[in-house]
Amino acid sequence: MNAAITATMKSPHYILRSVFGHEEFRDRQEEVIECVLDGRDALVVMPTGSGKSLCYQVPALCMPGLTVVVSPLLALMKDQVDALRARGVEAEFIGSAQSMEEQKRVVRRVETGRTELLYISPERVFADGFPEWLRKRSVSLIAIDEAHCIAKWGNDFRPEYALLSVLRDELPTAPMIALTATADVATREHIIRCLNLRRPEVFVGSFHRPNIVYRVEPKRGTYARIRAMIDTYPAQSGIIYTLSRNSAEKLAEKLADDGIRAAAYHAGLDADTRSARHEAFARGETHVIVATVAFGMGIDKPDVRFVIHHDVPKSMESYYQETGRAGRDGEPCSALLLYSERDVRTLRDFIAAESDADVARMQSHQLDAVVAFCESVSCRREKLLAAFDEQFTPPCDACDICCEPRHTYDATIDAQKVFSAIARTQERFGISTIIDILTGAATARPEHKELKTFGVGRTTTRVRWRAIIKELIARGYLRSTQGAYPILLLSDDARDALFGKSTVELTTDTSVKAPQGPAKDGWAGKHGRGARSRRSSKQSVTGEIPATPQQASLFERLRELRRTLAHKADAPAFTILSDATLLELARLKPRTVQELSAVHGFGEVKIRRYGEDVLRVIDEADRS
Ligand code: ADP
Ligand code: ZN
Repeated sequence: MNAAITATMKSPHYILRSVFGHEEFRDRQEEVIECVLDGRDALVVMPTGSGKSLCYQVPALCMPGLTVVVSPLLALMKDQVDALRARGVEAEFIGSAQSMEEQKRVVRRVETGRTELLYISPERVFADGFPEWLRKRSVSLIAIDEAHCIAKWGNDFRPEYALLSVLRDELPTAPMIALTATADVATREHIIRCLNLRRPEVFVGSFHRPNIVYRVEPKRGTYARIRAMIDTYPAQSGIIYTLSRNSAEKLAEKLADDGIRAAAYHAGLDADTRSARHEAFARGETHVIVATVAFGMGIDKPDVRFVIHHDVPKSMESYYQETGRAGRDGEPCSALLLYSERDVRTLRDFIAAESDADVARMQSHQLDAVVAFCESVSCRREKLLAAFDEQFTPPCDACDICCEPRHTYDATIDAQKVFSAIARTQERFGISTIIDILTGAATARPEHKELKTFGVGRTTTRVRWRAIIKELIARGYLRSTQGAYPILLLSDDARDALFGKSTVELTTDTSVKAPQGPAKDGWAGKHGRGARSRRSSKQSVTGEIPATPQQASLFERLRELRRTLAHKADAPAFTILSDATLLELARLKPRTVQELSAVHGFGEVKIRRYGEDVLRVIDEADRS
């Protein structure tokens, strides 16, 4: 079938069925197609796999004339063209990677007027005389695929994309459609401006991926945590993203030494090695790919079970895109981000070295959003979707916050100390100075030593104060200014709390707190030394202790079980079950799975993994 021969317009439904063999349009495809057929410009932001290609392929075949598709990757173009040809569509592609001979052949073919879709690489658009040549063809539609490549602050930036408005100018009568799977609100505006789209209609699909469980954990005991994740999905596929080539290499090597089928992937490898490793991963021979962002567009393996961010990602866009490579098959999968403030500082240093002030500003905003996401105390999914301007009402039941709600305590006094230190220094200082004042640091400024608040928080560690202040920011009591030297400002809520008009609840986050108790097992004992809090060493992390000898004995048995489980999983103990959960188990003594699910921190996954063992230990304790 050849649409160009027939001068009349074919109906989109007819094309959908006869060429693509689908019965119905999906989601917003039909609206997009109508808009384009109406001659209007469009911006389509829909997740990968939602069927964006049909949004320009169908109109291309409805209308007479040529549709030009700009696409950034040769491999993507080739796949699309092959698939179209297999359906009897006259499609061609042209890119600078082709030989001159081949390019000439394509040009001649297009000149016959039979070609319906011409895929072209962005560089090729600017080859001499090309726009003028195009003007002589009868172009009915211009499609810009992967339009986010236009953003110079992004990972996929392609300088030629920024110049594509040339096509808009050269071909004023053809509608232009820009498509991408990843554009937050700022990037969308940028695409519209740069491409010079004419009052485009913007179509945004849903970015909700219900089968992905999102987690953010502190980056400590990293290797053990990664191993635990791999062991959760034995012999299945996963991707680990790192910031540097070097750490990708090192981690892949270490995993391989441990018998995991792992390989590194980054831009420093030659093209052959890269494609061989990509292939091996696609075929399931390599289980774990440790990659930099170079492992990106064009990965459509359906059964990736986990994506780990070994380092903090640069933007919510890239985080979404990278985590989105998990679970394309709709089956349950995990996205784990290992968060460290040190990574954030490294990224800020990169940004500071950026010479383009606009780019630096944009990147800084994007990083701020990532930090807010990681330090959030409310549903991750809600935060993630908000970055795409999509509303979601928590709980999602599939993020660390919703599944394992943390215990909260009345933190009014702690908060008042912080607010007071900030107020007494006229909201002119950042987090370190405020902590200096609270802890009565010897190195504090002399004038600060005169303050009434000086040293009022001496019995709490700096680490803990930092966590408290971070949470006060996340909960909106404090605002941190942007820039290299952020300053803490009080919100109205903070002033209310300071004057005793309201109370403040904060979480007792076991991951950032000073270790308590004997803590011989697991992570806290190994990594948290040096940080002691004012509580007696017998207390648990919640600040409570087992109330009866029976409870204490069960608590000990449960800790023993946790040690065994942690050892088996080669994971830090706190990732198995927190002290707070053990304590609650000791107190509530659940006897059934249903009772177990009422215990804080016992989500579905934990029940499946540890439920049986826990119930057994409780039962044994009862009998003895
Ligand atoms: P995207 O470009 O958004 O990542 P694609 O255009 O590659 O997504 O489409 C993803 C898959 O969905 C393809 O296999 C395509 O054939 C299929 N698809 C697209 N639209 C429909 C539809 N209306 N009905 C059924 N399948 C569809
Ligand atoms: Zn949630």
